[in-house]
Amino acid sequence: MLFSIKATRLAALAAWLGLAFSRSTFNPEVEGKDPSHVITRNVCIIGGGASGTYAAVRLRQLGHSVILIERDDHLGGHTRTYYDPAGRPIDYGVWVYSNNTELFDFFGHFNIPLTGLDFTRITQGTQRFDLRTGQRVPPPSGDLVDAMTRYAQILLQHPYLSDGWDLPDPVPEDLLLPFHAFIEKYNLGPAVEILTLYVQGLGDILHYPAVYILKYFSLEVALGIQGGFSTSASRANQELYSAARQELDGDVLLSSTVLGMDRSYSDMQRILVQTPSGKKLIEAEKIIVTIPPLLRSLQNFDLDSREESIFGQFDNSYYYPAVVDIPGIPNGVQIVNRGADTPYNVPVLPGTYVFTPSGIQDLFLAFFGAGDVNMTENQVRETICDNALQLRKAGFDIGEPKILAYANHSPFQLFVSAEAIEDGFYRDLYSLQGHRNTYYTGAAWHAHSSTALWKFTERLLQERVMNDLNCEESGTCPGDPEDPEDP
Ligand SMILES: Cc1cc2nc3c(=O)[nH]c(=O)nc-3n(C[C@H](O)[C@H](O)[C@H](O)COP(=O)(O)OP(=O)(O)OC[C@H]3O[C@@H](n4cnc5c(N)ncnc54)[C@H](O)[C@@H]3O)c2cc1C
Repeated sequence: MLFSIKATRLAALAAWLGLAFSRSTFNPEVEGKDPSHVITRNVCIIGGGASGTYAAVRLRQLGHSVILIERDDHLGGHTRTYYDPAGRPIDYGVWVYSNNTELFDFFGHFNIPLTGLDFTRITQGTQRFDLRTGQRVPPPSGDLVDAMTRYAQILLQHPYLSDGWDLPDPVPEDLLLPFHAFIEKYNLGPAVEILTLYVQGLGDILHYPAVYILKYFSLEVALGIQGGFSTSASRANQELYSAARQELDGDVLLSSTVLGMDRSYSDMQRILVQTPSGKKLIEAEKIIVTIPPLLRSLQNFDLDSREESIFGQFDNSYYYPAVVDIPGIPNGVQIVNRGADTPYNVPVLPGTYVFTPSGIQDLFLAFFGAGDVNMTENQVRETICDNALQLRKAGFDIGEPKILAYANHSPFQLFVSAEAIEDGFYRDLYSLQGHRNTYYTGAAWHAHSSTALWKFTERLLQERVMNDLNCEESGTCPGDPEDPEDP
């Protein structure tokens, strides 16, 4: 650890002397020579999906200047809207929202109306097949209501799961059980189908530590299933991000990525960014990172050994949605993939979890999970079409499937082993909040739910970022806690 501290100080000295800087090799003194290339803001936010866009809009409302860096040519992350040739929208990423204050405030701010959505209506027409073979699979046996009530009661015993990863110490044993053991312990067999459908994108759910399922299929989701979710009245969730993009205007750098970073000074962080109009040097007091914190995503960041050793523990799953034209599936029928010969009939991946009717004749949403397999776009497209064609064997008169829209939402779920969780992985992860003037939000820091992340981000802004910005202004900060291993 002593070595890392020495290395950090040496790097700061090298930067001061105008020498090449650390791993991310850029020289702020040189890059910042042309003032027209320098952007100065209170906060630099990296990643313009659900969490980053929310953070940018809110910080501006709260009186702070921001710059938002987004790799894609649009904001929204996992939110995708496809328009058919008649101009009708189909959301094939984020679809529905659990209800909370942040949802109504965020949509309300942009005057975008919301509408209620009853999920049970969509699932009424469900038919089940093993999409490897076209074999029909019977519905789960047992009492679903009873199993779901038990599941909800377990969630009520762990209310902290709704707020983030502040787990009790020691971590309750139940949360660390492989999910198959958790199912057996609480007799949740009849609920596995519905759980699988809602926790899509994880991969092999039976072997995940149970806590990941409990965080994804949360109390808020359970309430949504019972009382309804919300969605944009236009059924085009991308509208939210188009409105945010317009409002943020010059405070967004689209199609832009981080080339280098220098956080060796306490008052000003420097981020070198490649934008379509050339390199920009951002000078900001604070940084908020919302992109998945995998080492490969952070390779141009000036990570210290503590950050590197924590982020280096994450693994991830792969998840791909599409809009598919499948002639021949009767109106209103939802096709759910079930393994004919697997425990609890969980679907075999890589494969399509479900073909959900979009509301437009023959157009379906296909949600494709690959577990830990990083597939090419062609492989995903071919497997989705093959899964649809298997329905011919089940007696459907299926025409040639055509993929109209496709997205790669990988890396999707970030996870670590039960042993790492038991050893305090999330405590260590959370200890990075504020470390080197950097804060974090996004799915890896809480859960895969837009509204849960807006709530989490709101708290982060109110309780950490705003406090730290304000105390620096008034000169009353207690000082950054040093690396706990630093003597
Ligand atoms: C198919 C699908 C359906 C979903 N459906 C729902 C739903 O119905 N309801 C719901 O609440 N949630 C849903 N989710 C989950 C929800 O979308 C996520 O939890 C949420 O979007 C995560 O927000 P985030 O800010 O962590 O990440 P994202 O929204 O993914 O944002 C991260 C952003 O960072 C950008 N980025 C990545 N790397 C870099 C880089 N190096 N430099 C700059 N930018 C970078 C990405 O392009 C992206 O815009 C769904 C997810 C998927 C994939």
